Amino acid sequence: MIHGLKGFREEEFLAGNPFNPCNRWIKSLLYLSLEENLVTLQEKAEFVYAALVAAYGELHWQPSNEPVDELIWTILSANTNDTNSGRAFHNLKERFGGDWDAVRTASLDEIKEAIRVAGMYNQKAPNLVASLEKLKQERGAYSLDDLPDKPVAEAQRYLESFPGVGHKTASIVLLFCFNMAAFPVDTHIQRQTQRLGLSDRKASPEKIKGIWEALLPAETFYALHVNLIRHGREVCQARTPRCEICVLQAQCDYFQQQGAWR
Ligand code: SF4
Repeated sequence: MIHGLKGFREEEFLAGNPFNPCNRWIKSLLYLSLEENLVTLQEKAEFVYAALVAAYGELHWQPSNEPVDELIWTILSANTNDTNSGRAFHNLKERFGGDWDAVRTASLDEIKEAIRVAGMYNQKAPNLVASLEKLKQERGAYSLDDLPDKPVAEAQRYLESFPGVGHKTASIVLLFCFNMAAFPVDTHIQRQTQRLGLSDRKASPEKIKGIWEALLPAETFYALHVNLIRHGREVCQARTPRCEICVLQAQCDYFQQQGAWR
């Protein structure tokens, strides 16, 4: 647990072997710099949140799609962009009149045709049908409205038991539909977290999800998620980050060439 590291003392750290790769990794996780301004990961995370709010505004959560719609949409969004997954979702709704039972009982070819624009339709179509089948069998209805009654971890595990649903999809449904304490990590957020030095350079999305969830309170998740994605698209781009205009540069390991980016 990251919180468990907060009590870690510099002198205790230095008493260990500084050339031990494990110690170096812990050091890079704990501090921006050992020489000056000992800034904890939590303080860095708070800085990132506040700087992005200052840059892009303080967003407030509002319910998005109906939860089953959101689940289906996010299954369609795997490995494609928002425009194409949106088109596929609307094609599906239009073709079947918004009736999920009609989708569940339709032929796979019909569904594939409707969602073709989203790509990977040979996998996505059976995943959609299997997910709708699971809802029907387990709940007798196409509804996820009771998810907020469960603890977050349990709700997350339940959603991840649907075919084609990973931790990102599950977290999106929980956060966007219910404002539950789940932090979705996409490729933009993964890249920025690694560059900022809040994780190691190769941390998985799942690990990064756990880091943000441990460092910041749940009420920040919605604004942080939306702002980080915007910042990743507009400033901290994958190939050529625009560090010269970035509001995070003061605490970014990549920009400062420190921590794991030294
Ligand atoms: S300073 Fe550069 S690398 Fe760091 S977050 Fe900003 S754009 Fe990304």
